[in-house]
Amino acid sequence: MEFKLFLIKYAEIGVKGKNRFLFEDALVRQINLALKPADGTFHVYKEVGRIYVEAQDYDYEEVVEALQHVFGIVGICPLVQIEDHGFEDLKAQIVKYMDEMYPNKKITFKVNARRARKNYPLNSMEINGAVGEAVLDAFPEIQVDVHHPDVLLNIEIRQMINIYSKTIPGPGGMPVGTAGKGMLLLSGGIDSPVAGYMIAKRGVSLEAVYFHTPPYTSERAKQKVLDLAKKVAAYSGPILLNVVNFTDIQMYIYEQCPHEELTIIMKRCFYKIAERIAKDHGCLALVTGESIGQVSSQTMQSLGVINDVCEELPVFRPLIAFDKQDIVDISEKINTYEISIAPYEDCCTTFVAKHPVTKPNLNIIKKSELKLQDKMDDMINEAIEHVEQIMIHA
Ligand code: ATP
Ligand code: MG
Repeated sequence: MEFKLFLIKYAEIGVKGKNRFLFEDALVRQINLALKPADGTFHVYKEVGRIYVEAQDYDYEEVVEALQHVFGIVGICPLVQIEDHGFEDLKAQIVKYMDEMYPNKKITFKVNARRARKNYPLNSMEINGAVGEAVLDAFPEIQVDVHHPDVLLNIEIRQMINIYSKTIPGPGGMPVGTAGKGMLLLSGGIDSPVAGYMIAKRGVSLEAVYFHTPPYTSERAKQKVLDLAKKVAAYSGPILLNVVNFTDIQMYIYEQCPHEELTIIMKRCFYKIAERIAKDHGCLALVTGESIGQVSSQTMQSLGVINDVCEELPVFRPLIAFDKQDIVDISEKINTYEISIAPYEDCCTTFVAKHPVTKPNLNIIKKSELKLQDKMDDMINEAIEHVEQIMIHA
């Protein structure tokens, strides 16, 4: 069966009053963005508490998949919309719909009519009864089941009449663009792309920063981060990726500081630089893929010491209480897993100490950092000045 229209369902909790317009407008914008690369002609519009996608010359699978990437959508309903030519015509159209939609008639069904237009001559109960009867008359194999029907046949009487019986689940969440912008610290690992996906799901648009350490990290390692950003962008919309050349700073820390503190001091540097870029670009928070206890730099003590360098912005860690397997499950769902496990070196593995501190003390770390004070500020300024910016589209 071919559909010219989709009804887009969204959760309305928390989107009353003025917020509702912001929410709906953002949703329309994100749907348009998601459909841009798809074949076909599309028209996305709002109409009294409903969002519709009109589609022509399109591929059904491609469009459904694109819509399943738009946060804020809870359901996608392929829709038949007809004009009101009286109740006899409605019954005939419903019979035609059921015939085309369900070639196999060994099904149970229930009619669920809603009369949004109160001047319609029959009320909801009367429509349910009479339409049900018309379907049963036309197809003796079909049966009614009011408790657990295979098919819930929805009829909405509005200016036009909507008929649908299938709701394809959407990703839920809030439309990107309704919550401000976050700066994702994106590495080539499994966790940070998932963290980006999760924060975007709450409506946060994303920028990203990647610390590159050539020649210790290769072009392929950088390409991996670009590929991951592209997968996240399929949900979050375009991501401006800031690539920071971290080599000189990395070497300087390596020369000056105790090696067991390298990872902590390096991470503090990541955060410091990320916060500077984030503030310059209007981001409201940093976002990382850390989770308690995963590695030595993610103990409560380490996270506290690393977090301490942030002067203003909060650091959001959507995965903080997740088990690795749960993170892997999400990365598989969003198609980042295969890319993440490709074995290209990252700077943390190149410079990692044999026995990194697991319970760093802030005062001791700060003391070690005093050895960096001659050049560090200049080096950070230099790194920020030479950031490479790459716009990543899905
Ligand atoms: P991931 O799987 O995201 O790489 P991880 O388990 O390897 O995380 P760490 O290497 O300790 O953990 O990194 C913790 C977090 O720091 C990452 O989730 C990411 O947000 C950030 N991060 C690490 N390395 C980089 C990098 N090279 N560039 C930008 N951010 C980074
Ligand atoms: Mg990593």
